[in-house]
Amino acid sequence: MKPRDTRVKPGSRVSLADWHTDGDAFVGKDKAASMARLDDDRVRLEELQELLYAEGKHRLLVVLQAMDTAGKDSTIRHVFRGVDPLGVRVANFGVPSTHELRHDYLWRVHPHVPASGEIAIFNRSHYEDVLVPRVNGAIGHAECERRYRQINDFERMLSETGTTIRKFYLHISKDEQKKRLEARRDTPKKRWKFQPGDLAVRAQWDDYRAAYDALLSATSTRHAPWHVVPADDKLARNLIVSALLIEALEGLDMRYPEPVAGVAGTPII
Ligand code: AMP
Ligand code: MG
Repeated sequence: MKPRDTRVKPGSRVSLADWHTDGDAFVGKDKAASMARLDDDRVRLEELQELLYAEGKHRLLVVLQAMDTAGKDSTIRHVFRGVDPLGVRVANFGVPSTHELRHDYLWRVHPHVPASGEIAIFNRSHYEDVLVPRVNGAIGHAECERRYRQINDFERMLSETGTTIRKFYLHISKDEQKKRLEARRDTPKKRWKFQPGDLAVRAQWDDYRAAYDALLSATSTRHAPWHVVPADDKLARNLIVSALLIEALEGLDMRYPEPVAGVAGTPII
């Protein structure tokens, strides 16, 4: 697999219609082999996260964005299954409260960025603020452009202060979303996830896609790149996200801290 194929080149114009939603280019027909690879990746991610925590120097921010049902929750569950909860935090961003709306849109986001040694996962993020209000007409073109710049500035600041950022757009097709919404509607254990509002958002599919095209084009930077992850196939999606996170952590050149002087050979009484 070549994870780099999913990366949005900074400055390029994205049209999601040109990006695959199926994972065929990434996983072979041998499902058992792919599942074994995911198990290996989990072990590797666990080792790297332990090292990140032990060294306590770097920070990793993972941003997940997607249309409904693309599998943000399930990606978190599967990819991070092996990691130590002590060093990983998930932040969910829902509809802003009236209190949050009285502040700038980054105000509620900043407290959730990772501390040294931590991984923070954003399940939705500040990118909702250039999606929902844009599609609903609450902000116009100029404000949206201003927010792209502010977001790039914010992420550059995080990067310059020691945070590695990886952003994933989980890319599903409209047909696949239909199947998954039907499954939510028809499966008792999944029904709790079905919200009538999801259908209203689905009806605005083209508008959301246009908003994603624009934000992916404007905010994939060298220090905080976007990856478009094919998500019709859940296994491919999980494999791609794990591989990219492993690559990001391996790039940090981390080391276990030196033991306290004299520890080796100390008799334990
Ligand atoms: P869920 O992820 O299914 O719990 O839904 C969360 C909802 O909150 C989604 O409909 C998001 O679009 C919405 N949401 C999250 N952040 C914002 C935001 N900044 N502005 C408006 N809606 C948001
Ligand atoms: Mg939902």
